[in-house]
Amino acid sequence: MNVTKAEYIISAVKPAQYPDDALPEIALAGRSNVGKSSLINCLIRRKNLARTSSKPGKTQTINFYRINDLLYFADVPGYGFARVPKSVQAAWGKMMETYLTRRETLKAVIQVVDVRHPPTADDRNMYLFLKHYQIPVIVVATKADKISKGKWQKHLKGTREGLELQKGDPLLLFSAETAYGKDNLWREIENRIGL
Ligand code: GDP
Repeated sequence: MNVTKAEYIISAVKPAQYPDDALPEIALAGRSNVGKSSLINCLIRRKNLARTSSKPGKTQTINFYRINDLLYFADVPGYGFARVPKSVQAAWGKMMETYLTRRETLKAVIQVVDVRHPPTADDRNMYLFLKHYQIPVIVVATKADKISKGKWQKHLKGTREGLELQKGDPLLLFSAETAYGKDNLWREIENRIGL
């Protein structure tokens, strides 16, 4: 997709604030610091529309971006902060559950993981969470530029096995640094929204 328009719409804390113009939506989830904001900015060719490196403890919001007046990206709060209070974890879970169960326009969740390392327990839980709600998931293994090409397949295998990725769930390699995998990911998104 050639992105000509990308607008920040709202940081929502409750469903009443979600955009209601019924455009198809793709959500993005990932462990804090995994590179989720960089991936969004890369997809929409902006340096800094999605805020990078959100800090734990900050108000947890779902940030909506409207792309080409055609679809929304919903940037959901990062998971897996070390040492966050139980209350914050619970609030995150509740917010995600509300979003995933109520959002009729949600077409798929892009789950971002770090290709360098095997998925963490939080990554596995997120994947299971999505499977539980039967939400289509596209796993993106980012920071590909940080490992040599010769090791890509081995690392992707580690990601696939670590998540126990189900048949039919795509796993795409990506780098926000080099934009590697960007066209593939856009193609996958376009499929999911029926373009
Ligand atoms: P977020 O917390 O998941 O939104 O993560 P950010 O997008 O803020 O990225 C965290 C750090 O990783 C930042 O320093 C980014 O510059 C860096 N980063 C993100 N994606 C990539 C990538 O594909 N390659 C490299 N080399 N660095 C990346």
